[in-house]
Amino acid sequence: MDWLESRDGILHAEGVALPDIAERFGTPTYVYSRSAIVERWGAFAEATAGRRALVCYALKANSNLAIIDLLARAGAGFDIVSGGELRRVLAAGASPERVVFSGVGKSTAEIELALRVGVRCFNVESESELKWISATAVRNGASAAVSLRVNPDVDARTHPYISTGLRENKFGVAYDQALELYQLAVSLPAIEVVGIDCHIGSQITEIEPFVAALDRLIALVEALEARGIALRHIDLGGGLGIRYDDERPPTPRAMLDAIFARIDASPAVRGLEVLFEFGRAIVGNAGLLLTRVEYLKSNGERRFAIVDAAMNDLMRPALYDAYHRIVEVQPRDTPRQVYDVVGPICESGDWLGRARSLALAEGDLLAILSAGAYAMAMSSNYNTRPRAAEVIVDRETTHLVREREPVESLYALERRLSE
Ligand SMILES: *Cc1c(COP(=O)(O)O)cnc(C)c1O
Repeated sequence: MDWLESRDGILHAEGVALPDIAERFGTPTYVYSRSAIVERWGAFAEATAGRRALVCYALKANSNLAIIDLLARAGAGFDIVSGGELRRVLAAGASPERVVFSGVGKSTAEIELALRVGVRCFNVESESELKWISATAVRNGASAAVSLRVNPDVDARTHPYISTGLRENKFGVAYDQALELYQLAVSLPAIEVVGIDCHIGSQITEIEPFVAALDRLIALVEALEARGIALRHIDLGGGLGIRYDDERPPTPRAMLDAIFARIDASPAVRGLEVLFEFGRAIVGNAGLLLTRVEYLKSNGERRFAIVDAAMNDLMRPALYDAYHRIVEVQPRDTPRQVYDVVGPICESGDWLGRARSLALAEGDLLAILSAGAYAMAMSSNYNTRPRAAEVIVDRETTHLVREREPVESLYALERRLSE
């Protein structure tokens, strides 16, 4: 996270001292770096330069309007998984023509909205969904461009909860049923078959699973070609991992070079536009969660640092046993102790880091790193905790891009019984 730097013993995000952000906006607060987002995007853009390619940003990683806007301005497409995310793309002023709509359970209302605004493509995950999109499009006098999400049955070798490309997962169309489903698709009214896609999982730190999935898709495209079904694009999904601890994921350039080498060698796909849907790899290391130590305590066996952020703000540790580096904002020269960094929520799963060596006093600030993706986006109001504020730093300037939620808003939609 090279947008973080210690100056005079104080951690700065770009040119802004983190204690100043805590002072102005309170804690917990998510802090993102404009340059980190834009530069990381640029790495993907450069790796696709001169090619017919569209790199989409998978909104579910972090769907703040300011981030959508920054990426739209940079030329990104968007991968969405709900009507709500489509509304966010529109609210951020981005074009629906660059949107691909993924997800196993698209509702009628979501399909109708997507048809009405004109998304670029539906990534279809089952025969039932395909038929339902066709019927919905007919009913609405519209036409739907579709791609079939094929499950390539490759092992992404990542956490089971974020692995999606194995036969046993709920995602996509089974590989050996795909040809038949394409044949059905071209026969359905109001359906235009335009592509093929896959997404094999997230936080993948090797190139091989991506190439294995691509090879499986290429074989299908060849078989489709032989049956006279021509596609316009191939979409390889997202899933490229980032460094949380000591992982060594490939760079965007290394991954995309390997993909394009394979594509260029295959006559069946060489002419197709290539799409990607990256989330974590674009924003994961562009954010941190700033939190304050409320209390230090020891139960004799373990020391705990109880902070004002919790599992409702950052769920990844509780959900996937995920590791986030945690650093002091103003390191002390007192001896380090080993702490479990935990939140105030009434669940033993409410921890943010275990056995961390830190020099702490009550009131100190901590930065929980690599918290740009699947962090704020997964937050909740459990324990009636207002969600954190979000800011984007841009050199010396700090923009508030989401206010801390007022407590009253958490029950504003609730009603007591009238009698
Ligand atoms: C979540 C998701 C992505 C993005 O995954 P990352 O690991 O964040 O890159 C892309 N495509 C689909 C269909 C997804 O569900």
